[in-house]
Amino acid sequence: MVKVGLTGGIGSGKSEVSRRLSDRGAVVIDADKIAREVVEPGTSGLALIVEAFGPGVLREDGTLNREKLGQIVFADQEKLARLNAIVHPRVGERVGELQRAAPDDAIVVYDVPLLAENGLASMYDLVIVVDASDGTRLDRLTRLRGMAEEDAVARIKAQATREDRLKIADIVIENEGALDDLDARVPEVWAEIQKRRDTAVA
Ligand code: ADP
Repeated sequence: MVKVGLTGGIGSGKSEVSRRLSDRGAVVIDADKIAREVVEPGTSGLALIVEAFGPGVLREDGTLNREKLGQIVFADQEKLARLNAIVHPRVGERVGELQRAAPDDAIVVYDVPLLAENGLASMYDLVIVVDASDGTRLDRLTRLRGMAEEDAVARIKAQATREDRLKIADIVIENEGALDDLDARVPEVWAEIQKRRDTAVA
């Protein structure tokens, strides 16, 4: 098994890359997605959140109101720790399950937006950074994702710089061009990952 950490600043095209790697056969583990799954209606995670923060954090349809919960926990470290103590072990457990289910020769890609920020590079055999200029990212976020410009700028500023991210990269996927260019680049990267997996095993 090769553990690949995939990261990139917001709007860099990380999700596009992750989807292409999945199409090639990677087992993609998306911690943000799992963090949403472990608090879906009917889960013990959601029941504990309601117990801790009250039924006010639920929407009428019984799903978690993330904005409401966010307002509660981001103003209070102790509450944030309480929420993390509910969510993190459940995410860890699910990640473990997915890892155990993956075949021995799997290429497991961990989609980790804040890999550089949280100093997690050493957890992976290989770190791939998707890189695009701040201008390109800003354009994608405002034009394609409908974000307000000042929100997009604030999100970009709140994350690691491109330089900091590139420092921890084993492989860089430059995503400044068209999606067709990405279609051409991903198979090269896939071949490179396979090569590293096969030489590591031998
Ligand atoms: P991230 O996951 O890094 O935040 P996404 O993969 O969601 O970024 O990409 C942000 C937006 O830009 C999406 O709408 C995506 O389809 C688009 N996008 C990404 N790469 C390209 C590209 N090379 N050309 C055109 N659009 C792109």
